Amino acid sequence: MNYTLKIGWLYPDLMNTYGDRGNILVLQKRCQWRNIDVEIKHLDVGFLDTELKACDILFMGGAQDTQQMIVSHDFSANKTTLLKELVEAGTPGLFICGAYQFLGQYYKEADGTKIPGLSILDLYTEHPGNNRKRLIGNIIIKVNSQWSLVDRNKPITNKPSTISYLVGFENHGGMTYLADKSLSFGKVIKGFGNNGRDETEGIMYKNSIGTYLHGPILPKNPKLADFLIQKALTKKYGKVKLEKLDDTLENKARSVIAKRLGTAL
Ligand code: GLN
Repeated sequence: MNYTLKIGWLYPDLMNTYGDRGNILVLQKRCQWRNIDVEIKHLDVGFLDTELKACDILFMGGAQDTQQMIVSHDFSANKTTLLKELVEAGTPGLFICGAYQFLGQYYKEADGTKIPGLSILDLYTEHPGNNRKRLIGNIIIKVNSQWSLVDRNKPITNKPSTISYLVGFENHGGMTYLADKSLSFGKVIKGFGNNGRDETEGIMYKNSIGTYLHGPILPKNPKLADFLIQKALTKKYGKVKLEKLDDTLENKARSVIAKRLGTAL
C-alpha cells in the first residue's frame, strides 16, 4: 500500500530558531526511507484554514519574542478553533519552545508585555525579568511513563527500543507553569525544563507534545520522530507497522551527549 503523509510546518520563516528545521528534515527522511510519500506544507503568515486541516502531522519551532508577537497577531479565532479540533482529534504535533508557549494562555515578556496564546493547553509562561539568567544548556529528560511513547510492558530502559530518555538543548527566558503537572512530558534529569524549579519539562496531551528541547530534538531522539509518524499513519490508515530503521549512529550521538552530562544512556 502507498502511504502518504502531509506535514504542516507552521511559520517556517518566523518560528525556526536553533536549527528546529532539522526536525522537519528528520520526519521527511524517516518517511522517505520507508517509501512513505511525504509532503512538507509551509503554513506561513496568512495560510488558509483548509491548508491546516489537511495536515497529518503538525510542527512548529521556537522563536524570539518579536516573531512570537507577529505569529500571535496572524493566528485568527478560526485558526485557533481548527488547531484545537486537530489537537483534540489526536493529530500528532510537535511544538518547540516559543511554539509550546503559544499553546498556553499567554507568554509575558521580560518587560511585562503579554503575548496572547491560543489557550489550547492549560499553561502559561512568564519571563522573570532581564536580570534573571536565561535557561540555557544541554538537557536530558525522562519521559513520563504514562505516555504511550514509553513501552509500559518493559522497564524504563535506555535501550533505543523504548523512548525513555530524551536529550536536547534548551534556550529560553520564559518559565512555563502547567495547571496540571501530571501532564508534563517528562522529568528533568539534567538541565532546567519548564521553569527550573518544579522539575517538569514540556507537556503531552493526546498526541501533541510541547517541549523546550531544541537540538534539534528529533535527530537526537529518532524514536520520537517514529512516534509522530506512527500516530499519523495509524490515524489515517488504521494500524500500520512501521519498518525499523538502523539508528546506531543516532543512538551513539545521544550517548555522547548524555555522557558529557554525566549520565549513561
Ligand atoms: N522567546 C521565548 C523565550 O525566550 C522562546 C524562546 C525559544 O523559542 N527558544 O522564552
